[in-house]
Amino acid sequence: MKNSIEVVLGIDIGGTNTKFGLVDREAKVYFSESISTRAKKPAQELFSRLFTRLDEILIARSEHFEIKGIGVGAPNGNYFTGGIENPPNLSWGTINLVDIIHTFRKEPAVLTNDANAAALGEMKFGAARGMKNFIEITLGTGLGSGIVVNGQVVYGHDGFAGEMGHIIVERNGRLCGCGRRGCLEAYVSAPGICRTVAELMADTNTDSELRQIPFNQLSSKIIYQAAEKGDMVALQAFEVTGKILGEALADAVAYFSPEAVILFGGLAEAGDFIFKPAKENLENNVLKLFSNKVRLMPSGLSHGEAAVLGAAALMWNELNHKVGC
Ligand SMILES: [Zn+2]
Repeated sequence: MKNSIEVVLGIDIGGTNTKFGLVDREAKVYFSESISTRAKKPAQELFSRLFTRLDEILIARSEHFEIKGIGVGAPNGNYFTGGIENPPNLSWGTINLVDIIHTFRKEPAVLTNDANAAALGEMKFGAARGMKNFIEITLGTGLGSGIVVNGQVVYGHDGFAGEMGHIIVERNGRLCGCGRRGCLEAYVSAPGICRTVAELMADTNTDSELRQIPFNQLSSKIIYQAAEKGDMVALQAFEVTGKILGEALADAVAYFSPEAVILFGGLAEAGDFIFKPAKENLENNVLKLFSNKVRLMPSGLSHGEAAVLGAAALMWNELNHKVGC
């Protein structure tokens, strides 16, 4: 009989696509695939397709895999209950995903939100290896944060701690998707920087190639490309975004004293355009006690596999701590 390879199944559920893959203890991804989430259909439908596809893959592969567990990253995922509560972009309402998974598979399963999964992935496989205190910031359509203190993700009493995207950085500021005003993610996220560009163009006469682009076609990538060419509005938009991020991080440092803040996601790929003003404003605003102690770093997870690695790390973490294997 062939030796079996111990792996966990990592699943990352997004509003449009769901990624899944098998990952061993050393971050080797044996395969990963993406299927459409079909957010308007019930969660059972997604898992039925996912596990049918997994079975096909397991039969087709030459290796024999022993799946030790299933880790899931999902919007509004709750580590304590295994449920998700009214996730944005999914019409599932409040349901228990772990219970649904167990109608298909018998392996242990555990769930958290995508930013916490990314933090665990970073700690096990990425830039935070060896760290016990750091903050992972995911910059995409929103701003997610996974906060690790003393080697543990901070979940809070109800499983939802670490919502830095919704700390208020400007009273009565921009309307946020959560219904309140002035949240960090209304400024520091892909849509946030687009709104900043629109405001800068409305408030000034500065020449910019971005004036030719309709707002609904604007993206953080287009702003980045314009910044690379020296476009003044694009450069200023990154300055503003980095400044607001740096100021918010200075406050976070006072709470958690992390050794690093790791930026992950599309907007973080703008490199120095976002890192420089963020670092500068972090240092300008942080309590002297923490001056020059906090590193601001890019993620060490490869972009394509980060979501699956994070979800897998969640389960490996669980197995290492609870089962002792
Ligand atoms: Zn908000």
